[in-house]
Amino acid sequence: MIAPREDVALMSGYHSPQVDVDVRLNTNESPFGPPEGWKTAYANAVANIEWNRYPDRDAIALRRAIAAMHQVDPSCVFVANGSNEVIQTLLMTYGGPGRSAAMWEPTYALHSHISRLTATAVIQGERTDDFRIDRDEVDRVFREANPEVTFLCTPNNPTGVVDSESDVAHVAELVTRANGLLVIDEAYGQFSPWSALGLVDDGVPLVVTRTFSKTWSMAAARLGYLVGPAEIVSELEKVVLPYHLDSAKQLAGRLALDYVDDMKTRVDHLVAERTRLIAGLEQLPVTVWPSGANFVLFRPDTMDGAAVWQRLLDRSILIRNFASSPRLSGCLRVTIGAPTENDLFLDALREFLT
Ligand code: PMP
Repeated sequence: MIAPREDVALMSGYHSPQVDVDVRLNTNESPFGPPEGWKTAYANAVANIEWNRYPDRDAIALRRAIAAMHQVDPSCVFVANGSNEVIQTLLMTYGGPGRSAAMWEPTYALHSHISRLTATAVIQGERTDDFRIDRDEVDRVFREANPEVTFLCTPNNPTGVVDSESDVAHVAELVTRANGLLVIDEAYGQFSPWSALGLVDDGVPLVVTRTFSKTWSMAAARLGYLVGPAEIVSELEKVVLPYHLDSAKQLAGRLALDYVDDMKTRVDHLVAERTRLIAGLEQLPVTVWPSGANFVLFRPDTMDGAAVWQRLLDRSILIRNFASSPRLSGCLRVTIGAPTENDLFLDALREFLT
């Protein structure tokens, strides 16, 4: 059998187990389905799709709706099949052979993975011990590597830590000086106390990526987007496959934006549950990190993390196991679920650890 490209042969793919369990708190999805009104509107709209025709290649109605929500021009919005495809398109356009992408670990694994897939050299700096941006380390990376693409993830996955506005401004300044592009991944932006969307401007080499997979209760739809300068969006449009967004998906996203208020209520609810879950964890012998996202990173102090993960799974509670990841030894990440799910998780943990 033909061998794959040499670097691909050496890679391991994306491994997050999809297991059939009662309580699924491992991939930061919303515990709630979309609003009933959306389901009806979507079913009606899908019935009228002209299936024999290609979809709108520019997804203009969807882009207009996203642009209106963020009060920007539709030419500043690029939409793709999940924010992972947004990241892939960015790297195919601005990364690639002879170019590099920088990120500070631990962070979202797909930033380095998709960089490698697109033959972009990966420059991995380190975050501080409490997972914040280390300005000296940022300066070192720019001095030594001058990357074309720089990733920040705030709130950061898997730590939950929110980068400060001044740290982001510092990185943005270095990126501008290096004539590079700053990609700010805000997959969890709605749960955070601040957003970098306000930094987007014409002539500023910065884009902010967002997703429908978390806040919008639509992980199944595979829809993500970025807001950035129109000049960048038009380059991305050249690279992405024609008609990449099917008609049903375009409708799903556009109709979802009629429910902004419902989504804000859900975010408030999950943020309150996050406070409750963190308070519950703080009663137990675990180390907990502060979170600005819809998940919490913690490390059991008295028991091996992987063993705790397995015992929860034995109870049909699935969380994410980072226990053997670099810099995250013994750590586990739990998504904020519905109140009953969070209670089941906390009760089980209390039983194992006390
Ligand atoms: N960025 C971050 C930080 C994420 O955690 C995720 C999902 N795990 C994504 C991007 C990708 O999201 P999607 O492709 O579902 O939009």
